[in-house]
Amino acid sequence: MSQTKVAKRTLVALLAVLCVAGSASVSSFSTAGAITAYAGTNIEDITPVTDHEWSEPKCIWVSNEEVYAEFKCNVCCETRKVKADVQLTSHRDASCFTDGFSIYTATVNFNDNVYTKREYFTHRAEGKHDYSDPVWNWSDDHSAASAHFVCERCGFEEDSGAVISSEVTTDGEDTVTEYTAYVVANGQLYTDKVSIKNTEPTETRTVSWEWTDSLSAALATVTCGNGKNETVQAKVTVDKHYATYRSVGWVTYTAISVVDGIEYHDVMCVVLPKNSMVHYEEQKPTCTTSGIIDCWLDLDTDKYYLDPECTQEVSWYQVDLPELGHDFDSVTWHWYKDLKHAWFEAHCTRCDHTIKTPPFSTTCKIENGKVIYEVNLPSTFVGNNKKYRDRKVIDLKTAVPDVTYEKGDRAVKLTWDSIEGAQQYGIAGYVNGKWKLLNTTPDTSYIIRNLTPGTEYKVAVVPMFADRWNTNFTKAITVTPKSVNVIPVQTKIIDHKVGIKWQPVAGAEKYAVAALESNTWAVKKEFDANTTQWTTPNLAPGTYRIAVVAMVNGTWQSSDFRNRSFEVTIK
Ligand SMILES: [Zn+2]
Ligand SMILES: [Zn+2]
Ligand SMILES: [Zn+2]
Ligand SMILES: [Zn+2]
Ligand SMILES: [Zn+2]
Repeated sequence: MSQTKVAKRTLVALLAVLCVAGSASVSSFSTAGAITAYAGTNIEDITPVTDHEWSEPKCIWVSNEEVYAEFKCNVCCETRKVKADVQLTSHRDASCFTDGFSIYTATVNFNDNVYTKREYFTHRAEGKHDYSDPVWNWSDDHSAASAHFVCERCGFEEDSGAVISSEVTTDGEDTVTEYTAYVVANGQLYTDKVSIKNTEPTETRTVSWEWTDSLSAALATVTCGNGKNETVQAKVTVDKHYATYRSVGWVTYTAISVVDGIEYHDVMCVVLPKNSMVHYEEQKPTCTTSGIIDCWLDLDTDKYYLDPECTQEVSWYQVDLPELGHDFDSVTWHWYKDLKHAWFEAHCTRCDHTIKTPPFSTTCKIENGKVIYEVNLPSTFVGNNKKYRDRKVIDLKTAVPDVTYEKGDRAVKLTWDSIEGAQQYGIAGYVNGKWKLLNTTPDTSYIIRNLTPGTEYKVAVVPMFADRWNTNFTKAITVTPKSVNVIPVQTKIIDHKVGIKWQPVAGAEKYAVAALESNTWAVKKEFDANTTQWTTPNLAPGTYRIAVVAMVNGTWQSSDFRNRSFEVTIK
């Protein structure tokens, strides 16, 4: 019987290894062909899959002919601009003290919904009547007069008493008394004159007036027929009608001077234009918009008033009704798989809206063996001064997957449950006393190829959190591919020889027939890969235990040796 010393030593060494099966015996991995390109996380995995959630449109009113509605998706922030159909739906002309208006309605059909927006344009009232020339009524002695006014626009009528002043002038041989009536109405000074020929000789007297620039004082100079001048300081009375948002105002200055027992009058009038008061209708605050009380704003002074006459000033804080902010009854944070982003969803009981935000970046820190992800909702999204945040805590001690495996041909398939927050998984192998990263995958299974049958490998799956591997190998497992065993298919005893046939096995580089001698297997004969049968030389009588082994990847495949070996007895 021939023996191959080298082969025997190899097999014996291998058997010795098998005797300590279960301990950490790991051979080198061959990763050739095992590394597949890591394509990165698929975008579908990190984008929440929802329909567009179109916001209420933002109205862009370019002109009364050109209006757009701009819709924004709350989820993906896409915007759509749609041109609106615009109609003049209501109109009223301005009256003397009442503003007119035009209401335009813009309509947009979008996403099976009809959106309308009304825009209100004010036509300011003039703030005064449109009086034609008044009709004057004089008393018989011309000591009194009144003016009757009619507004051509609104039909309003009023009578105003006049201030009368008189002078005496000459008209050829005669003297004439000239009566002047002064009336201030509607912010304007109206005068009327009546001249009466004197029937008796009368001394002439004329008056001229000199006002200061501010109209607070006036001088009256009365010239008499004898050429005598007398200048006196007039008494000036002021009557002020304040301007408002609705109405012009005016100031009437009436001067009275008495010379030689005769009263002289002069009247000046200064118009005060309407002020720039803006009226705000009361508006209740909503979740997202502030409100305002019914008030008036003077654009000149930026002051607010409860009345257009500006008598009751109020501060901005009394005027403004701050937005209420949403009142959520349910709040949900949606975390992306890698926990690097999260978005917020909440339902408001007050306005019955469901808020869906775009995703926010989360923060990440590692503390006491825990990875802590946090996300905060920017206050602009709810405006109710409440803080909304969420956190995810990954305990690195326990965030390790349980791995199971299936044997394959020179390969094993590892399978594990996904771990929350794991960005990807590393496949680690224990090689020469050290853990080595063999490959990475975003999936929850991985095939390790090019393994040697009959060899055990210690492997682990490590998840990545916060861009770091959780190098926790407490759940490492030992794997081995399918063994490649040769089973003899036929044995025949002819005289003192044993004929053996066996089925070829895939990948066999060599075959050998081994015999058990003193509890040790010894290679009796080696064959090349093409040989599948052998007849022994004559054997001495006795019982022999024989097996056929194949060499794969340079290693004798000796697993399950005892069960597939066989006994022959030579008589
Ligand atoms: Zn969208
Ligand atoms: Zn009028
Ligand atoms: Zn008055
Ligand atoms: Zn009001
Ligand atoms: Zn709300």
